[in-house]
Amino acid sequence: MTARPASITILGGGTAGWMAACLLHHAWGNQGTKIRLIESSQVGIIGVGEGSTPQLKAFFDRIGIDEAEWMPRCNATYKVGIGFEGWSERAGFERYFHPFPTALDGHSAPQFFRAARQRRHGFQVEAHPDAFLFPGLLAERRLAPLNPPNFPFEITYGYHFDAHLVGQFLKGVAVDRGVEWVDRLIQGVEVDAEGKVSALVGEDGERFESDFYIDASGFRAMIIEEALGGRYRSFGDNLFNDRAVVLPTPVADDGPECATRAIAMKSGWRWSIPLTHRTGNGYVYSSRYCDPDDAEKELRTALGVGDEVEARHLRMRCGRVEDSWQSNCLAIGLSQGFLEPLEATALHIVLATVEGFIASVDQGGLTNETRRSFNADIAARYEGIRDYIVAHYRTQLRRDTDYWRDNAAQENLSPSLKRIITCWFTRADLLREIEEQGIARYYNAVSWHCLLAGYGNFPPDGQLKPAGPEINVADMGRIAAFLDGCASNFPGHADALARLTEGA
Ligand SMILES: Cc1cc2nc3c(=O)[nH]c(=O)nc-3n(C[C@H](O)[C@H](O)[C@H](O)COP(=O)(O)OP(=O)(O)OC[C@H]3O[C@@H](n4cnc5c(N)ncnc54)[C@H](O)[C@@H]3O)c2cc1C
Repeated sequence: MTARPASITILGGGTAGWMAACLLHHAWGNQGTKIRLIESSQVGIIGVGEGSTPQLKAFFDRIGIDEAEWMPRCNATYKVGIGFEGWSERAGFERYFHPFPTALDGHSAPQFFRAARQRRHGFQVEAHPDAFLFPGLLAERRLAPLNPPNFPFEITYGYHFDAHLVGQFLKGVAVDRGVEWVDRLIQGVEVDAEGKVSALVGEDGERFESDFYIDASGFRAMIIEEALGGRYRSFGDNLFNDRAVVLPTPVADDGPECATRAIAMKSGWRWSIPLTHRTGNGYVYSSRYCDPDDAEKELRTALGVGDEVEARHLRMRCGRVEDSWQSNCLAIGLSQGFLEPLEATALHIVLATVEGFIASVDQGGLTNETRRSFNADIAARYEGIRDYIVAHYRTQLRRDTDYWRDNAAQENLSPSLKRIITCWFTRADLLREIEEQGIARYYNAVSWHCLLAGYGNFPPDGQLKPAGPEINVADMGRIAAFLDGCASNFPGHADALARLTEGA
């Protein structure tokens, strides 16, 4: 085989499949690689997944699509992070904001780290993340993360969007640029004696051959698992949630926030995702603690929505295939794996997988060595993100139901996560621990401090001692004035979205 595949067939036209089509065509289309995407209108797409990380902005930048072109058509809004609400019963820590990493926070983050360490050592100092970090303020004031002219710091952001519309939009881009699209139900996958996929076979017997295949067939994992027998690792031992129930509500009266809300419920949490035309809501829960009827009832009550709005119930399979790239097939999206949507990382992993695949093949060709190191890198990424999500459940401070108590007590932690948690509670140097483990590329020190401090994992209030002159206490008034001054430069979120629509 030459350095790159001469032809690639993608099975699946969900968001994952169309993202891969755009990226592969962008990278290799003008070097002669033919790309075809097969999907079946009889099967359809999952159609949830409305929150992204900043990786989605990098994707649109890479394929050369402006915000004015795609956002209004996909009812998209800006997103600067996730607000966690009700995950802690500790006074003063009932909510906190987990921001995307942004250059502006480089200014106050060192003071946040120091304050958190002081409070872990029992000093009565302010150590709530929101008092130090900027993006939560944008969300609270309903401002857009768009850099004003001459503002010296770039604000990093992602988006919320309608998953169906993004899929349709990307399909239009890919097909316009030369990707072949076929609507066909695939009924078989031919694998040759060497274990390579040789063709996908349609319902009418038509064979679709190519050098390389991308499995984007959703939870079914039709090529990577069904045909190639790829091993699957479940995350069920430390991520309990396996179902979701989804309901839309109207947009809030004061317009969409540029943040997702993750609100604790009895047996899980619910997302609130503001789009321009509706708010998406979904209760992610564990079937071990709650049945679908009770989950739906609890969600309806929380939202104040009656039976007139239809709910959609979904099952989630949380885990990953052991090797994303096997033989001449790369799995992406739900067929590759899924981490529950608490940090909205699924499309992030799709993009990292496809971009990593392109870069690896460009560098090392389609060799066993390239495949091994690529698979190790993707596996480490899954585990790194999984650890961060598990840390939410393990260190939250809510104890009103068995669900929350069992999550707090569960001990199925990776060695890396055990070290992080031990480091925090033994008051050791968390910055050094994160650096030594090399895990900041998944979640950096700001994220880890937000999570552990945000739930109020500090000595009990009664044991805190006043901060005397022996410690260097952050000047909170100065930090607040700095953040406030910065915020005054940013436009309103609703106005910024309206301007995009006018420019579209
Ligand atoms: C409850 C929930 C919440 C989520 N929230 C987020 C979030 O906030 N952020 C995020 O990034 N992700 C989220 N996700 C994940 C996100 O939905 C998916 O990663 C994303 O939609 C991509 O899905 P997909 O393309 O892999 O699969 P699908 O959308 O299921 O697409 C599968 C495709 O395969 C095709 N197909 C299947 N079988 C055949 C066949 N036999 N023949 C032909 N075609 C076939 C189908 O036609 C379809 O086109 C969430 C997922 C769930 C379950």
